[in-house]
Amino acid sequence: MGRLLPLSFFFFFFFAFLQVFSLVNGRNISRPSFTPVKRDLYHSSGDLMEEIKALVGRHPDRLTMKTIRTGNKGYYAEILVVTYARGRREIDNSSKFRILLSFGQHGRELITSELALRLLSILSEEQSLPNMDPINLNNTLEKLVIKVVPMENLNGRKLVEAGDFCERRNGRGVDLNRNWSVDWGKKEKDYDPYEENPGTAPFSEPETQIMRKLSESFDPHIWINVHSGMEAMFMPYDHRNTTPDGLASHIMRSMLEDLNHLHCQDRCVVGSGGGSVGYLAHGTATDYMYDIVKVPMAFTFEIYGDGEASPKDCFRMFNPVDLTSFNRVLSDWSAAFFTVFETGLHQLNGIHSKASMTNLDKLVSIDEYLDGYLMGRSSRYGKKIEVIDVGMQEIRTYFRLFLLSSVLLMFMFCSRLSKSKCSRPIVSAIPL
Ligand SMILES: [Zn+2]
Repeated sequence: MGRLLPLSFFFFFFFAFLQVFSLVNGRNISRPSFTPVKRDLYHSSGDLMEEIKALVGRHPDRLTMKTIRTGNKGYYAEILVVTYARGRREIDNSSKFRILLSFGQHGRELITSELALRLLSILSEEQSLPNMDPINLNNTLEKLVIKVVPMENLNGRKLVEAGDFCERRNGRGVDLNRNWSVDWGKKEKDYDPYEENPGTAPFSEPETQIMRKLSESFDPHIWINVHSGMEAMFMPYDHRNTTPDGLASHIMRSMLEDLNHLHCQDRCVVGSGGGSVGYLAHGTATDYMYDIVKVPMAFTFEIYGDGEASPKDCFRMFNPVDLTSFNRVLSDWSAAFFTVFETGLHQLNGIHSKASMTNLDKLVSIDEYLDGYLMGRSSRYGKKIEVIDVGMQEIRTYFRLFLLSSVLLMFMFCSRLSKSKCSRPIVSAIPL
């Protein structure tokens, strides 16, 4: 007995320790640490693309598609773009409201491409959206052209399907949401090349080149970059912890707050990407869309995240793994997208000048500014803006002369003062 007592104490504490450990790290003990791709819920990339192509084939009256291919240094990428437009023979698409949606920019976020398929199925009326007035919906859809990129990062996605469940970058290790030119290449203290490699230069990657061309030629009014990892609705900026000034920012924020209430039960984080996600992101697509392409409503939606998943269990962290959550995510976010189409159209209808929507503190040349805001916008805002075209050349010339003389005056003024007072600090693109 004398010997058994300490032994039984030992076993008691040993099992008690195991119990506590299994409670704390429940996932590690009760199930394997890596969840494989749930094939019963998710399409393979090949099947998903085939399904989308078949869908387009069944609805030539409203869906068309195009595959864009490009490459450099022996690396090639292709992106399928599906366009939804009704009655396109009668009405010129450039007079419609244009929406550009991208899914699957990060390989491991499989759920986003499933949402792309669901949206296209609803747009083609093969699936329906509950609680949505069909007459209202039809009226909205008639006025829209929607371009959907169901899988921006096909090469990265294939790596995930081959077993690299944590891969978010493209087929040669570049993060496609860090490869754009706004604030490109800046690295935070906690920079992890596995996650955020920005590439060798802005637009070094074929995928980003394709998306840039697409956005600049399509010139959308609404851009949504669809991701997963958390539940959030972000607006610019990703590279700063602030949102832009002005009316555009105000409209975007109030739209997101309404969406959060309507479709996310107020669970979603709403605000600037940089201010809300917990880190600043440099060289992102949404910042480029807002700052350079001048898309008045530029968003990043994060549609699902399991915050309790083990950090290495990427499939589970970024994608729902049971049928109920899978269906809930797809139906909630489809509904959210259709609300965006409707309210976005409504909001933008009332605004005819983009100049009032964006802050003027932007790093664009005066030519870009005038071209972008006043000349190039004539197609977007119809005849109302065409009046401004008359005499535009003269205004531009006067404006340039005014700027030039201001610069000269400034230069003369500065040269009389000490250098330290007038010269601005040169900020390096890449901090220490
Ligand atoms: Zn992502």
